[in-house]
Amino acid sequence: MVIFNKINPVSEWVANQKKEGKSIGFVPTMGALHQGHLALVEQAGRENDLVVCSIFVNPIQFNNKEDLKKYPRTIESDLQKLDGAGCDVVFNPGTEEMYPAGHQSKTYDFGRLDKVMEGRFRPGHFNGVATVVKKLFDIVQPHRAYFGQKDFQQLQIVRSLVRKEKLDIQVIGCPTIREAGGLALSSRNTRLTESQRREASRIYQALEKAREMYPEFPVDQIKQQIIEVIDASTELELEYAEIVHPDTLLPVTRAGRNTSAVACVAAHAGKVRLIDNMYLNS
Ligand code: AMP
Repeated sequence: MVIFNKINPVSEWVANQKKEGKSIGFVPTMGALHQGHLALVEQAGRENDLVVCSIFVNPIQFNNKEDLKKYPRTIESDLQKLDGAGCDVVFNPGTEEMYPAGHQSKTYDFGRLDKVMEGRFRPGHFNGVATVVKKLFDIVQPHRAYFGQKDFQQLQIVRSLVRKEKLDIQVIGCPTIREAGGLALSSRNTRLTESQRREASRIYQALEKAREMYPEFPVDQIKQQIIEVIDASTELELEYAEIVHPDTLLPVTRAGRNTSAVACVAAHAGKVRLIDNMYLNS
């Protein structure tokens, strides 16, 4: 596995491989890797000749300074895990490499996609995500890029970015990997206490129940069920629960067998913010 910290060498390395006809799969991450990230790397490995993974804690997507400061950084074990998962190249730049002094961020407008749910509660977050993803795409220029459905709204924004900027990259959404109790794996889970971690699986239980209820029950009732299950925990504080159409993120008002719907939840467990979602009619 080759490790690069600078932009030019990784760009050149990839360009040379592409000249030789190799297909490139790319997995952008912020490190503190777990099985959810490694599943993306493994899928990229099955579908491409070579896999590039980036590790970069992107400061401009954090709207909360403490979250950025406390974000886990475990580069040595990340590299070991990536090697074991069949990753070929790691790009691990410093902040100055990605955002040199005087750098100016573009302001993206994704219409409704970046205004609701995460966009509403984390102002500036998706502009930071779009900025770093566009930069990384320009640096790596992969054939395919792999993102987790865990960050469902992010995945839709990246798809929109690729369409808007007319990038020749296939964006592939990959299933959410969960702990045995259902809690979606997340780098932030390491900051949960034992009891918070146990209670956090209620988010999954609420989403599973919503999936069972859809489309037989009215959407309001399904949403109410999610709210009640999460509110019943003393460890969790619900931020939002929404049932939306996957492409438009408009609220689904009437449940229907042919109406696609995704339930999305954000909740706090102490100072840790957790998000999760589930397709309801699959
Ligand atoms: P992050 O390092 O949190 O920015 O995540 C990097 C990529 O891994 C994103 O595409 C995430 O959606 C994805 N990811 C994070 N957690 C999971 C999970 N539990 N299952 C699948 N993909 C995940």
